[in-house]
Amino acid sequence: MKLILLGPPGAGKGTQSARLTQKYAIPQLSTGDMLRAAVAAKTPIGLKAKSIMDAGALVSDDIVVGIVADRIQQPDAARGFILDGFPRTVQQAQALDVMLADKGMDLDAVIELKVDEDALHDRMAHRVKEMQAAGQPVRADDNPEAFRTRLTAYRTQTAPVSAYYAKSGRLKTVDGMAPIDEVSKAIDGLLGPLG
Ligand code: ADP
Repeated sequence: MKLILLGPPGAGKGTQSARLTQKYAIPQLSTGDMLRAAVAAKTPIGLKAKSIMDAGALVSDDIVVGIVADRIQQPDAARGFILDGFPRTVQQAQALDVMLADKGMDLDAVIELKVDEDALHDRMAHRVKEMQAAGQPVRADDNPEAFRTRLTAYRTQTAPVSAYYAKSGRLKTVDGMAPIDEVSKAIDGLLGPLG
C-alpha cells in the first residue's frame, strides 16, 4: 500500500497516519519528522533547514526530494508506506512519480483531508496545550506567526498538488472536519477495495 495524505497543517494527517501504519503494517514517512530529526542531530541538512522550518516556510525541493528518495529505499518501505507532509509542491509530486516509476511502482491512493482554515488555528493552539500538559516540548513552528506562514505556504505551494493528482484521477477527498473515528472510517471506505 503506497499512500499519500494531503491536507493543511493541523488537518489530522499525523493522527490518521498513525492508525494506518498499524492497520497495514507499513511505515509512516513524515518529512516533517525527518527534518526535525536532522535539526536535532545538527546534520548539514538540519543546519540549513532549521531557520526555514522555524519560520514556517518550505525547505527546498532538492533537499526534501533527496531525503525521501533515500528513505523509500530502506527495507521497511519495500511493502509500502504512508507519506505525510510530502509532496508539498508540484515539483515534489513530479519527482515522486519519477522515483516510483524508476522502481516500477505507483501510488495506490492520494487522500486529501479537507478542513476549514478557521478550525486550524484552534487545533494548533489545542495541540500546544496538550503538549505542554504532557510535559513535551512544543514545536518551534507551533506559534501563531509561523502557523500563518505555514498556512500561506499550504495555500500557495501545496494546494496545487491536489489539482496535480486530481488531473490524473488519483485524488480522493475526505471530510477532515468530522470526528477522528469518522474520518478513519471514511478513509477505510476508500481503501477497502485496495486493502
Ligand atoms: P505540519 O504540521 O505543518 O504539516 P510538518 O511536520 O509536516 O508540519 O512539517 C514541518 C516543516 O518542515 C514545514 O513547515 C517545512 O518547513 C518542513 N517540511 C516538511 N515537509 C516538507 C516538504 N515536503 N517540503 C518542504 N518543506 C517541508
